[in-house]
Formats: sequence, C-alpha cells, structure tokens
Amino acid sequence: MSQEINAEFIQARVNLVQIIATHVTLSKSRFVLKGSCPFHPDDMNSFMVSPAKNIFKCFGCGQEGGPIEFIMAIENKNHEEVVKILGALI
Ligand SMILES: [Zn+2]
Repeated sequence: MSQEINAEFIQARVNLVQIIATHVTLSKSRFVLKGSCPFHPDDMNSFMVSPAKNIFKCFGCGQEGGPIEFIMAIENKNHEEVVKILGALI
C-alpha cells in the first residue's frame, strides 16, 4: 500500500498556522503570531505560534508542540487518531 505517513512527515507538511487560525484569533508580533490560549483561561495573549518553525507554545500553561500536539489537545484525540486525520489532508 501507500507509504506510511508518520509524525515527522506531518510536522513538515501541515500548516500549523492555518489549523490554529480556525480556533484562535492570531495577531502578528515580530516573528511570531500571538493569541489567547485555547487551553487555559488567558487574558494576556500568552499563546505564540512560530510560522517558521511550525510550532506553538503557551507561556501561561506550558502547552506546546506542532500540528499533531495541537489537534490532540484541542480535539482530545490520541496520537494515532490525529496522524490519521492529518495524513488524510496531505
Ligand atoms: Zn495556555
């Protein structure tokens, strides 16, 4: 069958900013995008996304990662499920 879609492949191919923008309003701040964290009550825009590195990090609650970790946390799914969902998009 087809070549296995793995986490590394998804990390490199899936646009994290696009995914996060459907859940969080992002505004530009120098080299990153900032917004209100979807994982904790946040009125300080602690949530950062780096388009260059394709990763996110919240400086309030410590949640961080790439496209897989974001979908796992926001949709409460496990790693295998998310790899399948994102693999189908690319
Ligand atoms: Zn947070």
